[in-house]
Amino acid sequence: MFPNTIIFIDAGHGGLNRAGEYTTAPSKMFRHARGTFHQGSTFFEGVWNRALTNQVMRKLDRLGITYMPLHHDYLDNSLQHRVDMANWYGKKFQRSLVISTHANAFTNHTARGFEIYTSPGTTESDKVASIHWNNVNSLRSLYAKGTSITMRTTPSGSEHDNEANFYILRKTNMPAILVEHLFFDNYEDAMLLMDDNIIDLFAEAQVRTIIEYFTA
Ligand SMILES: [Zn+2]
Repeated sequence: MFPNTIIFIDAGHGGLNRAGEYTTAPSKMFRHARGTFHQGSTFFEGVWNRALTNQVMRKLDRLGITYMPLHHDYLDNSLQHRVDMANWYGKKFQRSLVISTHANAFTNHTARGFEIYTSPGTTESDKVASIHWNNVNSLRSLYAKGTSITMRTTPSGSEHDNEANFYILRKTNMPAILVEHLFFDNYEDAMLLMDDNIIDLFAEAQVRTIIEYFTA
């Protein structure tokens, strides 16, 4: 499917190394007061990001869609390293796309919901963001717990045009979106993220977005 096309899959931050140590800053993990997450009551964003991208890559394998992960299995590769990977491989293919997977956190731990970011200005990435927003929004009704996913609107009231100067969005030479999958420091959202059905929902949405974007 899709000759001369490559999808760059990015799982934000680092994971757990062979000694079971988290390779990323403490701001990318959260110790909940209750519940069981990746290590006792601690949620590691980088570990979750990899659970999702692994599921996306399994689905792309089955479809025969060419992809390249920009992240390491557990090291926290620099953003420059990831961008260099995308731009180097991207030159060898006619079409490419970056999807960077994250989960969010906020100081008061009460924020919830799903958001998509693109670089400032109107670009091809906005088209991808719009497709992806609609896919997540329609898939969530198929999963029992999916309806508890909040779709966060921007301060302007629009749905999917959050714009930010994220390095991976700004420096890559192809359309790129950064997806914030709920808030891992919010207990209710974190519980949703631990559900394999929810991980599959978000993975399925990414795959459908890829297919829709390249068949449009
Ligand atoms: Zn992140």
